[in-house]
Amino acid sequence: MNVDVAIVGGGLVGSSIAFGLVKHGVNVLVLDGFDRDFRASNANGGLVWQHTKGLGNPPYQMLTRRSVDSWDGLKEELQELVGIDVRYNRTGGLSFCLGDEALESRRADLQRFHNQLAGNEGEVELLDRITLESLIPRAKLGPRVTGASYCRRDGFANPLLTLSALHLAIQAKGGTIFGNAHVHTIKTDAAKRFMIYYGSRVVIAERLVIAAGLETQSVAAQVGLEVPIKPQRGQILITEPLEPFLPMPILGLAQMPEGTVMIGTTHEDVGCDAGVTADAAGLMSSSAVEMLPAMATVKVVRQWAGLRVMTPDGYPIYAQSESHPGAFVVTCHSGVTLAAAHATSIAEAISIGTIPREFEAFHPRRFTKAD
Ligand SMILES: Cc1cc2nc3c(=O)[nH]c(=O)nc-3n(C[C@H](O)[C@H](O)[C@H](O)COP(=O)(O)OP(=O)(O)OC[C@H]3O[C@@H](n4cnc5c(N)ncnc54)[C@H](O)[C@@H]3O)c2cc1C
Repeated sequence: MNVDVAIVGGGLVGSSIAFGLVKHGVNVLVLDGFDRDFRASNANGGLVWQHTKGLGNPPYQMLTRRSVDSWDGLKEELQELVGIDVRYNRTGGLSFCLGDEALESRRADLQRFHNQLAGNEGEVELLDRITLESLIPRAKLGPRVTGASYCRRDGFANPLLTLSALHLAIQAKGGTIFGNAHVHTIKTDAAKRFMIYYGSRVVIAERLVIAAGLETQSVAAQVGLEVPIKPQRGQILITEPLEPFLPMPILGLAQMPEGTVMIGTTHEDVGCDAGVTADAAGLMSSSAVEMLPAMATVKVVRQWAGLRVMTPDGYPIYAQSESHPGAFVVTCHSGVTLAAAHATSIAEAISIGTIPREFEAFHPRRFTKAD
């Protein structure tokens, strides 16, 4: 089989890029691994979140803003093409402050955001407790809540529906997805095309995109790309369904359209252990009750854990191999938020064969540069 672009990994990252490419007539094959693989795309919180992203890193702040700007378009395209409503809703989002010190520290952060990138005035604002109460009147606040930062551009999309819709849309536009297609070896032929081996088969591609989640590092090393990645566990609790009381997500607590409340998440350095713990359930529950005391009487019905795909500084990696031109790597820890950017700017960069200068800050050489 010969294709224009082969993508290793059919999670949210690989699929968003694949969708962006097939829309422009590129012949794409997605090779996705085994069901038992770690899949952050099936375990995440679904926030499309700008608010707290990129303090100290203006390119990341810009990238996130651009992705949020493109999310409505992505939602509409998927709805039109495959009839799936991915339930993206730009509701606005809150990040609570507990205590006066936290409120002052948030005020300072927002000033730094404002100074960092002119033009975001009014996108994130600091609310005092009374204004916060009037914004979410059905949620009775805990006594330590002094206020919150509020970003009107934050929202939520159903990540499972988004992934299914992307898979169907890729195929509707002529792309191909193979499941159980675990890539083990990559070589190049005399014409410098990529020979990608999965199971006992091989596919030949002019270009290659590696978006294999936690396996990105080992796959990318075969084409001369050094990509430091490590897992970070995040646990989530889900409650019984409740009457609607929270019209927008709070960082750490969000009511789903179905009425259930998602609580979490943790940030744990435990290697590839994707198990859940009672300790984390306790901590997340206490934090929810501190924000909204009524949560104390609500039943938790589910708990799960997923492994984030983390770079050392938490920012994405976008790069083309110098030793194997035409091979790209893409990885990030906010694959829902950035799905729209991946389906537009990043797919475009791959289709023209160059990562633009504005993405230079995301090259992995930042981890090896001498100070
Ligand atoms: C608890 C938790 C909460 C999160 N909350 C949010 C959130 O609210 N908002 C947000 O934007 N992001 C969130 N994230 C992050 C988001 O889920 C990830 O950024 C995103 O899912 C990463 O997608 P991916 O495609 O890179 O990786 P994955 O979803 O892990 O997919 C990788 C794919 O590659 C395949 N693969 C691996 N190796 C190979 C191989 N050798 N050959 C072929 N295929 C291979 C696997 O089978 C898999 O399908 C959260 C993550 C977690 C864990």
